[in-house]
Amino acid sequence: MSDTPVGIASRWSERHAAYAAGLGTFSLSDGFITPRGIAHRCGSIVTTLPLAPSPRKFSNHHSNCLHYHDGSCGACIARCPVGAITRYGHDKMRCRELVYGTAPEKLSVAYGVAQTGCGLCQTKVPCEAAIPAACRVSIDVEA
Ligand code: SF4
Ligand code: SF4
Repeated sequence: MSDTPVGIASRWSERHAAYAAGLGTFSLSDGFITPRGIAHRCGSIVTTLPLAPSPRKFSNHHSNCLHYHDGSCGACIARCPVGAITRYGHDKMRCRELVYGTAPEKLSVAYGVAQTGCGLCQTKVPCEAAIPAACRVSIDVEA
């Protein structure tokens, strides 16, 4: 992850690869909401194997997030301990300070682990384990 002309960005985005593969859409918190929800890890494999593309079941790149669907929800805003999410989106700098600064500094010693993380914005939210029902009304998605 590095600073680029468009801000903090990865050289390779697993979420964008997943979007290109038709697996889900992006969220207010910059996560990726799939039929199995937002609380997941995704990865990609680069191959020359010919594969039939999955049908895209989403009308736009934000379709699965309630905030973008009808202006409701915003549950992830309250879940963030450092106020990195607002109705205007996700403050990557503020998030990074916690994830790569404060959290490992405080928690790695307390819990005896080298790697810590956060992801609180992806738990106890309507999109945690599925696409919210209101976003699914006009599309055929497996729950
Ligand atoms: S908690 Fe609500 S507003 Fe936040 S990403 Fe999930 S559906 Fe969107
Ligand atoms: S990962 Fe943690 S710090 Fe970053 S936006 Fe989500 S709740 Fe906030």
